[in-house]
Order: sequence, then C-alpha cells, then structure tokens
Amino acid sequence: MIRFACPTCGKSIKIADEYAVRRGKCPGCQTPVTVPAAAPPADVEPATAEAEPAHAAAESEAATIEVQRTKPDKKPPPVELGDLWWGKLCGGIFMLGLAVWLYNELSHLESDGGSFRIWWGIALAYKLGGKWGAVGLIGGFGIIFVLWGIKQFKTGKE
Ligand SMILES: [Zn+2]
Repeated sequence: MIRFACPTCGKSIKIADEYAVRRGKCPGCQTPVTVPAAAPPADVEPATAEAEPAHAAAESEAATIEVQRTKPDKKPPPVELGDLWWGKLCGGIFMLGLAVWLYNELSHLESDGGSFRIWWGIALAYKLGGKWGAVGLIGGFGIIFVLWGIKQFKTGKE
C-alpha cells in the first residue's frame, strides 16, 4: 500500500502498490497526480508522523502510572488473615478448639437442660444433627481450614 499526499490539496491518498509511478486523479480535488514509488518519503504524512510519537508517549505515560500503582507503599496494605496459610491454619485450629468447647457445652446442656445463644448456623446444625451435628459443623470447618492452610503452605503461596 502506497500512502502519499496530493501536492495540490494535501489530501492523503492510499493506493495499492501496483499503481506506483502511474498517473491518476486525486479523489479530493480531481487534479492529475503521479503516484510515487512504492517506498514513499518519510515526510509524506506529517500529521501521522507526529501523531504516532504522541500516542507512544501517552502509552509510556500510562505504563508509568501503572507501575506507580502497583509499587508497594512503605506501609504494606493490611492483609486479610484468611489470605495467609497460617491464618487458615490458626483459624482452623481455633475452630477445632471451638468444636471441643461446644461439645463440652452441649454435653453439659444435655445433662442439665437449658439453652445458650450461639450462631444460628450451629443452632440449626444442632437441631438437624444433634450435638454431633453442631460439633461436626465447626470441626469440619476447622479441618477444612487446617488442610487448606497446609496445602497453601506446601504450594508456597502466601
Ligand atoms: Zn488533491
């Protein structure tokens, strides 16, 4: 593809290489023009030549902003405990401890009677599955979190 500007009206013309060095009419002003050779001079389209570096500059500026954005601050952002393998591990161990505590509490309740306020999920699990349902719910979560933490630790993710 040959790109050149009409010498009379300045309209930029694109034409297939096969028309190189042929004469034709400018589509803008109908003046006869000679199509230049296949490799046109660099200054044929000054507007495009200027626009490209400007575009490149804009791109590099955007890249700089992106780099600045991803640069860590002096203060690292607070990490969610759940994102860390040891967070899951500790959470899991805590839940296992909670399961043991709940088992004790429920054992006391079953022998003495009474009730205590607790997370509705556990209360529901108790209604459905009894003491072992509630304890199993927390203990299951605990085991899942412990295994999840161990798995994350092994894969080296943080
Ligand atoms: Zn023209």
